[in-house]
Amino acid sequence: MSESKKEASAKKEKKEARKIFSLYKVDKDKLIRLRPTCERCGPGYFMADHGDRYSCGHCGFTRYKHT
Ligand SMILES: [Zn+2]
Repeated sequence: MSESKKEASAKKEKKEARKIFSLYKVDKDKLIRLRPTCERCGPGYFMADHGDRYSCGHCGFTRYKHT
């Protein structure tokens, strides 16, 4: 029982690490941010992609994408 629980938590940690890593893309020696950062909260606060807009989960700021 305790063995499977341990495995589940390890899986969760791996998943979250991947989620953070997906915010960046390394192109040769350049680091590209795949998400915009919140202009209110400053760099380090990524905005979530909602299709036609981005929103900050920290302050709730929403920015529409320019198409
Ligand atoms: Zn914000």
